[in-house]
Amino acid sequence: TFRAMVIDTVDGKPAAGFREVSLKDLPDNDVLVEIAYSTLNYKDGLAITGKGRIARRTPLIAGIDISGTVVESRSAEWKPGDKVIVNGWGLSETEPGAYGRYQRVKAEWLIPLPDAFSLQQAMAIGTAGYTSALCVDALEKWGAIKPGEGEVLVTGAAGGVGSVAIALLSARGYKVTASTGRPETHPYLESLGATNFIDRAELQQKGGPLQKERWTGGVDSVGSTTLANALAQTARGGAIAACGLAGGADLPGTVLPHILRSVALIGVDSVMAPKEQRLSAWSRLARDLDKTKLDAITTVEPMSKLPELAQAIIDGQIRGRVVIDVTA
Ligand code: NAP
Repeated sequence: TFRAMVIDTVDGKPAAGFREVSLKDLPDNDVLVEIAYSTLNYKDGLAITGKGRIARRTPLIAGIDISGTVVESRSAEWKPGDKVIVNGWGLSETEPGAYGRYQRVKAEWLIPLPDAFSLQQAMAIGTAGYTSALCVDALEKWGAIKPGEGEVLVTGAAGGVGSVAIALLSARGYKVTASTGRPETHPYLESLGATNFIDRAELQQKGGPLQKERWTGGVDSVGSTTLANALAQTARGGAIAACGLAGGADLPGTVLPHILRSVALIGVDSVMAPKEQRLSAWSRLARDLDKTKLDAITTVEPMSKLPELAQAIIDGQIRGRVVIDVTA
């Protein structure tokens, strides 16, 4: 048996805690992975604190990201010893997840660990960082932004998605404006490549439907009024890639930026993203993410600290990325 963080239902509400689990409790999927690391994402915080109903059936092992080594495989695609990653695919929602020593997963969920990264670095990136790469990919593919040109806004800057987005954008030569509610993180964000700052309170005040054009593009993990203002401040033909709701799930804006300035709102979902998009995002990370910067945004914590870390990410207290050592 091994220890796992399991979400249960108590009095009709989600409740998470550690429990002993054995291999026979795992689903009958084709590939058994020995997990080396997982990570802490906002969604994991919602699942563990019970603030969000993430697990749609219980009991269910939590944790949405896996890095590890294949131990057994009934699929021709993978063999024992292969180093692999899983991001999303319903782990911790409808499928048992990452916070334990082993998991059995579907062959098509796996992607190979890029040569550029160790198993620990892959989880320092995790869903948050891979989503940042999906967002930058989406903005460039849309044609909203071109390397070396224009100013790009990153909201929720000191969080996981924001931190990696800044590093990826600055590596491509974009000027990056970081929106944060924590001024004490400015030196940290500067070290990642941000050159300008905007107080997040400024973007949280309701503004006009068309404001001064400031951004060619943006990566938004906050939602709500912040996203509405970001769209209203985007220049003609620009786009915002929206992936998060740390500030709220509403969108109190108008269609005017879209119909008068051809501004696009590009939605980004990492959980069910097709393999081709995942491989593209991971090759961007391998090419552009400075590993010194990655190591600087990473802390490694034992799985035993998950309850307090989950509360901290929901309280907006986590800076950068937290890797979870599932053996500790
Ligand atoms: P995180 O590390 O907690 O970062 C979120 C950041 O948002 C915080 O660091 C904070 O940045 C800012 N923030 C927090 N509460 C806020 C509030 N009430 N109002 C305004 N800003 C607030 O979380 P994450 O893992 O990066 O995830 C960020 C968001 O993206 C979450 O909503 C998550 O669910 C979503 N997400 C979605 C996908 C997808 O597939 N669509 C994938 C990954 C993440 P500052 O302190 O710098 O202000």
